[in-house]
Amino acid sequence: MLSAETVTDELQVWVDQDLCTGDGLCVQYAPEVFEFDIDGLAYVKDPAGELRQSPGARVGVPARLRLEVIDSAKECPGDCIHVVRSADDVEVAGPDAG
Ligand code: SF4
Repeated sequence: MLSAETVTDELQVWVDQDLCTGDGLCVQYAPEVFEFDIDGLAYVKDPAGELRQSPGARVGVPARLRLEVIDSAKECPGDCIHVVRSADDVEVAGPDAG
């Protein structure tokens, strides 16, 4: 369930599966946000734990997991985790971050 205490819509995250190497760093860092599907690639999960599989699908980043998600994006070997600010769509971590 969405909760104001645990979920913020300030940041959103999505994964470009075309570039995912399947190494699992993100799943280790933030298993509540990233999960492998049977194709061996990482996908984002919504707060109900459902994988979001449509290309470019975004989920909100829970406030308490912001650092883990940002670290995942910075260290992702595929450079394929995009963390964007919802308010203006600016990428704050990931390959398109300034
Ligand atoms: S860290 Fe990046 S390359 Fe590795 S599994 Fe996650 S999304 Fe894929």
